[in-house]
Amino acid sequence: MSAVNESLIRDVVAEVLGRLGGAPVPVKAPAPAPAPATAAPSCGCGGKGAATSAPGLRGKFGVFQDANEASAAAHEAFLQLQKQGVAARRKVEEIVKTLAEKNAEEWGRIELEESKIGRLDHKIGKLQIIKLVPGVDWLRPDARSGDHGITLEEYTPFGVVGAVTPSTHSIPTLSGNIVNIAAAGNAVVFNPHPSAARCAALAVRTYNEAIYREIGIENLATIIEKPSMESFAAMCRHEAVRLLLVTGGPGVVKAAMQTGKRAICAGPGNPPVYVDDTACMKRAAKAIIQGASYDNNLLCIGEKEVFALESIADKLMVQMEQHGAVKLTSAQLDALTKAAFTITPGQGGGCGHASVNKEFIGKDPAVLAKAAGLNLPAGTQLLFAETDANHPFVIEEQMMPFVPIVRVKDLAEGVKRSLEAEHGYKHTSIIHSHDLEALTEMGRALDTTLFIKNGPCMAGLGLGGEGYLSFSIATPTGEGVSNPRTFTRVRRCVMVDNLRIY
Ligand code: NAD
Repeated sequence: MSAVNESLIRDVVAEVLGRLGGAPVPVKAPAPAPAPATAAPSCGCGGKGAATSAPGLRGKFGVFQDANEASAAAHEAFLQLQKQGVAARRKVEEIVKTLAEKNAEEWGRIELEESKIGRLDHKIGKLQIIKLVPGVDWLRPDARSGDHGITLEEYTPFGVVGAVTPSTHSIPTLSGNIVNIAAAGNAVVFNPHPSAARCAALAVRTYNEAIYREIGIENLATIIEKPSMESFAAMCRHEAVRLLLVTGGPGVVKAAMQTGKRAICAGPGNPPVYVDDTACMKRAAKAIIQGASYDNNLLCIGEKEVFALESIADKLMVQMEQHGAVKLTSAQLDALTKAAFTITPGQGGGCGHASVNKEFIGKDPAVLAKAAGLNLPAGTQLLFAETDANHPFVIEEQMMPFVPIVRVKDLAEGVKRSLEAEHGYKHTSIIHSHDLEALTEMGRALDTTLFIKNGPCMAGLGLGGEGYLSFSIATPTGEGVSNPRTFTRVRRCVMVDNLRIY
C-alpha cells in the first residue's frame, strides 16, 4: 500500500470513529505503544517494575474508574515522556495552554452547570489565563565552575504526582497543574472534587487525545472518573505515586499529610484586608470589589473581611457603594447571617460554632440579597455590611460575594484582628496604605504566602501585578505559588578537574 493511501485510510477511519464517538485514531503516526503497566500491589520496586501487561489501560485517554489503573497508566506515560525528552514536554505545555483558551467558553459553562458555584464570566476568564502558568523554560539548571571542574544541579522529575483538585476551580486547577507537572517531566493522576468531576474528566480526555495525536502518549494526565475517599487513599498508596499535590480545605491537607508521602499542600485561606487613612479610598474600594466579587468570592486569595481605620471607614464604604457594591442594614445582615450559617450551640455555656451553609457558597449577590430581604440594582457585584470582629462572616472562610467591614482604632488593632481572622493559614493578606511602616509591619506580622499592597488579590497571581499564575498556592507546606520547579528533585552531577574552559 502506498504511503498516500495508508495516510488517507488512517484519516478516514479517524473521522468515522470520531463521528461514532469512539476513541480517535492518531493521525500523526504516534510512537509505538510500549507494554502497558499493571495495577499490581506494591512489590518494593518503587514503580520501576510496573511496566508489565494490562491491555485495559489503553483507549481510555486518561479517564479511569480505578485509582490503581489510573496511577499505573500515568506511570507508563511518565516512562514514555522520559524517553521523548524536553521537546515533548514543550508540546504538552503548548497543547494544554492552547486547548484551555480555545475551550474556555464551553468548559466554563460546563463547569458552572456541574458545580453550580461561581460566575460564568470568571469561570471562562480563569481558563483563558492558563497561558500565564510557567512552563518548561522555568527550569534553568544551576552550574558552578572552579579549579576543581564543573558541577551541574538539574531539576529532574519525581515520576507520577497524585493530585487533588477543588470544586471552586476544577478545570483551571487541573490545567495549570498539568502544565507545571509535565513541564518538569512528570505525569499526574487526579482525584478531583466529586461535585466538579465530570467537567474535569472531559478536560483530561480532551488533553490526552491531543497529546496522543501529537506525541503518541495516551495517559500523561489521568483522572478517577468517580472520585471518593477510597480512591484518594488508593491513589496515595500506589507505589508509582511519588509526590502529592492537594488543593483544598483543611480536611484534604490533613489527609495528605497523614499518608506518609511527601505532600505539597495548597490549603485554605481567609484573607484579611487592612485599610488606613493614607490609602486612596477610591482605589481601595475598587480593588476590594474586584477581588471579593471574582467568581462570587470563590478564590482562596479573595478578600474575605476588611478592617478599616475608624477615621476612614465611612469614606471607604461610600466609595464601595459608588463602585458596584450594596450596603446591607443591620437587620438585613442578621437575616443573611441566619440563612448563610448554621450556629451550633457551644458546650457548657461556651461560644457557639458557625458553619457555612453550602447553599450560599459561590452564589450570585442576588441570591444573598433575597435571603437578606432586599432587591438589588442590576450590575451589583458585591454586598457588604458593618460587623464586629467576631462575626461569622469575619471568622469563617465564607466564599460568598459579601464582605464584612470592621472598624479598628489603629494599625495595631488592624494587624491583631487580621491575624485572628487569618487563623495562621499563612495564605494571603492585603493592605491599602501608603505608610511604609504600616506596610512593613503588617507584612512581617501576618507572615502570609501572598501579601498584596494597594491592589486586588489577583495582583498576587500576576493579574495586574508582576508575577506568574498558578491555582495551587502551597501554603502550610511552604512551596508558595507552585511552578515547574515545585515538582522536581534537585540532582547534582560533578565533573572533577575537567571541562572548565579558562
Ligand atoms: P474541599 O476541601 O471541600 O475539597 C478539596 C478537595 O479535597 C476535593 O477534591 C475533595 O474531594 C477533597 N477532600 C476533602 N476532604 C478530604 C479528605 N478528608 N480526604 C481526601 N480528600 C478530601 O474544598 P473545596 O470546597 O473544593 O475548595 C475550597 C477550599 O480550597 C477552600 O478552603 C480554599 O481556600 C481552598 N483552596 C486553596 C487553594 C490554594 O491554592 N491554596 C486553591 C483553591 C482552593
